[in-house]
Amino acid sequence: MRLVLLGAPGAGKGTQAKKLIEKYGIPQISTGDILRKAVADGTPLGREAKSYMDRGELVPDSVVIGLVKERLGQDDCKKGYILDGFPRNTAQAEELDKLLNELNMPLDVALSVDVPFDDLMKRLTGRRTCRNCQQMYNIYFSPPKKDGVCDKCGGELYQRDDDKEETIRNRLEVYQRSTAPLIDYYKAKGILRSVDGRGSIEEIFNRICEILDGAAKNQ
Ligand SMILES: [Zn+2]
Repeated sequence: MRLVLLGAPGAGKGTQAKKLIEKYGIPQISTGDILRKAVADGTPLGREAKSYMDRGELVPDSVVIGLVKERLGQDDCKKGYILDGFPRNTAQAEELDKLLNELNMPLDVALSVDVPFDDLMKRLTGRRTCRNCQQMYNIYFSPPKKDGVCDKCGGELYQRDDDKEETIRNRLEVYQRSTAPLIDYYKAKGILRSVDGRGSIEEIFNRICEILDGAAKNQ
């Protein structure tokens, strides 16, 4: 199963990716992770990436694609892979397709985990963290017994600056602007599948598995 996972921040992609790794025995390829590892290992591409990061610049697509290529060449990707956090726009998607064709491991499915904007806002702006033990809560979905107080240790709960409404609204809007064309790109290729990202983790996972098992049968 060769898969790209698409979904807004807060859509629950990461949780579902973990479950997919277990069920299908394929690795998750997160560009953030392979970038950090290449930098830490001091590989040629890692050193190049670091030179941009040190200057506070974005690592160019060519470097990221190079890292993805190295990663996909490893043995554990022979059965398939889950790409997460990449591609982020159509230019990257086109580069990725070129690479995957070269490697003869094209995508089976681009899976979009869809959650309405208002639900994403609640999931993200509702987050509260304990100052003392770092336990996480959500005031809408998993509130503490007493407002503003940690159930576990009695510590004070606070909202991280990253989780403030303005910041979240901005992040989601940026995501939607850059990803909408990506959705169209995969739709035009006939490999886009959308899944309703509302409900319990298990419900969503079952929906995803139905889609993937269906896609596998059609090969
Ligand atoms: Zn606590």
